[in-house]
Amino acid sequence: MARRKDPIEKVDNLPARKAKYLPVAAALTQVYGPLDWSRQQGGMDELISCILSQSTNDTNRDRAFARLKKAYPDWEAVRFADLDELTEVVRPAGLANQKAPRIQNVLQVIYEKVGEYSIDFLNDRSLEDAKAWLCSLRGVGPKTAAIVLCFAYGRPAFPVDTHIYRVSKRIGFIPDKLSANDAHPVMEAITPPEDYYQFHIQLIQHGRDTCHARKPSCDRCSIVEYCDYFIANAKTN
Ligand code: SF4
Repeated sequence: MARRKDPIEKVDNLPARKAKYLPVAAALTQVYGPLDWSRQQGGMDELISCILSQSTNDTNRDRAFARLKKAYPDWEAVRFADLDELTEVVRPAGLANQKAPRIQNVLQVIYEKVGEYSIDFLNDRSLEDAKAWLCSLRGVGPKTAAIVLCFAYGRPAFPVDTHIYRVSKRIGFIPDKLSANDAHPVMEAITPPEDYYQFHIQLIQHGRDTCHARKPSCDRCSIVEYCDYFIANAKTN
């Protein structure tokens, strides 16, 4: 069987891409400030919240998650809840017909493999093992695995969401044709591990505030001189 190509091998001119990190990070820190990691919620909450967040925004995810926590006393109750009822509870997150059974399946697999509703044991595994374990759960991909490991456990995993994928391609951290899944190891190679959390949040903030999907506000962007998209457009205008 053909060996799957390491995503890093698909990236041309990696040193030049890496060289953008320091000036871009410094400029974004000026705008959004430095950020220290602090645990907002535990691994199970982060994981289920991530499943609810798929293909929706933070507000809808948070509404659905709050309803879930209010409706059921613990993960055991969620696992064995009536599926139609659970679907209604998580409906604010959208795709409820997919997300409700996905959550129950994940809870079942975790209980069967671990013997309790906890994934804290992942903190004692190597990062690659922990990622692979999470990605073996149905409906969990590299983004969710990285969010859980980075946010709940402070592990050096770099989650690439839709904002980061778009902004990083425009700046030139990752090539245009690289998939979002393949972007994870590339962003991990470009960013110093101790900065993953801060740079992840800063890039999301920049995507929301300035580097919008439809029409980026380059006229008020602090990193124009490092941005391939801006430089290419300036040359053609
Ligand atoms: S210069 Fe424009 S495209 Fe580049 S990061 Fe800033 S807002 Fe986005």
